[in-house]
Amino acid sequence: MTGQDLSEDSFAERARTVLAPLGAGYLDEIEQLYLDLHRHPELSGQEERTAGIAADRLHAAGYEVTTGIGGHGVAGLLRNGEGPVVLLRADMDALPVREATGLAYASTREAVDGDGATVPVAHACGHDVHLGSLIAAATLLARARHCWSGTVLAVAQPAEETGDGAAAMLDDGLYAKVAKPDVALAQHVVPLPAGVVGHRPGPMMAASAVVRVRVHGRGGHSSAPQATVDPVVIAAHIVTRLQTIVARETDPADCAVVSVGYLHAGTKANIIPETAELGISVRCYDNALQARLLASIERIAAAEAAASGAPRPPEVTVTEGVPVNDNSAEHTGTVRAAHLAHFGEGRVVPMPLLAASEDFPYFGAAGAGPHYDGDAVPTVYWVVGGASLDAWLAAPGDTPQEKVKSLPVNHSPQFAPDPRPTLHTASEALVTAALAYLTGTTSQGL
Ligand SMILES: [Zn+2]
Ligand SMILES: [Zn+2]
Repeated sequence: MTGQDLSEDSFAERARTVLAPLGAGYLDEIEQLYLDLHRHPELSGQEERTAGIAADRLHAAGYEVTTGIGGHGVAGLLRNGEGPVVLLRADMDALPVREATGLAYASTREAVDGDGATVPVAHACGHDVHLGSLIAAATLLARARHCWSGTVLAVAQPAEETGDGAAAMLDDGLYAKVAKPDVALAQHVVPLPAGVVGHRPGPMMAASAVVRVRVHGRGGHSSAPQATVDPVVIAAHIVTRLQTIVARETDPADCAVVSVGYLHAGTKANIIPETAELGISVRCYDNALQARLLASIERIAAAEAAASGAPRPPEVTVTEGVPVNDNSAEHTGTVRAAHLAHFGEGRVVPMPLLAASEDFPYFGAAGAGPHYDGDAVPTVYWVVGGASLDAWLAAPGDTPQEKVKSLPVNHSPQFAPDPRPTLHTASEALVTAALAYLTGTTSQGL
């Protein structure tokens, strides 16, 4: 049958057909893949082995594979007749964390980080769940091409934890070289019960930036301050004045954080140093507000330096930053309806705003920058539970919010998704979300 030969089956029946191999042995294979990925975590930017596995698996499933996009990025393209291009994204990198789960398959690996230090490495954020379920979904869709029509773009992304992998793939021409999607979909495992998926239309995760401010003064002896411009005093004024950005410049209805995480200056009590450096973390849920917060930091730093007669203005550098993870409300409705049709109401939950950040929004061309070619791509991002039923039931508390507090969260050395139910649900979630587009089914028609 060709991709156009779509039968009149209901959406749920088609999803069951595509997913049938999971219950007939294929989940075992995906679990083995996951355990291998879990034992072999790689730091951000070093995902050579993981990317090789992704490329091999996608190639074996029948995808046209492009490797080395923006570092270790991999894209697999499967054209199957008329229809939309649906991007499915998984991240691949692990964290410099020593795993303390006590699991038989726990990581014992170490690696040399960007500063030359040897550090432990573990999949403490669950990106091995994401890649395992992406490979499963891509393979299942390829095996059941008669059930859908369109194009699947499977993306294995490096360097999510450092916030630069998605932008690097787009800067390297992912959309121009491979295909530009009509919608981009991604998911993250969280400490909800395995088997559950969670959605939130609109902003879901914070826009985040790290700003470094280097203040220039004129050094000298502490006994002769009149011959110096003291950068410690300038930095102290900046720290104090930065508090007014949220308190006096931001609409009380908006959430924002401007926190000075470090202030480094000087070596000795009787020396006035030449420079001082501040590290500032900025978070909010609106890209335009983020731009205003960053502009305010720059203005205040420059003004305080000028007020003290600094010999030159401070250098203000945004060293890390990601836009708000803003789900298209319309497309979230489509994906949520697909998940409701497949999982049923008891397994599809609403999500609160999350203060964590993600670089997935770059796939949606949110904000502005060299990564974008004009038209935005709608994005949908959801979460999948990873906590074992036993752990969930044993967690103290009566509400999900109370229970989540006592379970190991992402980035914890104890973070340990329950492999089988987590991979099963994550694979189903990706396949059914993709099929909502690839069967031409609208959210009303599911
Ligand atoms: Zn993470
Ligand atoms: Zn993550």
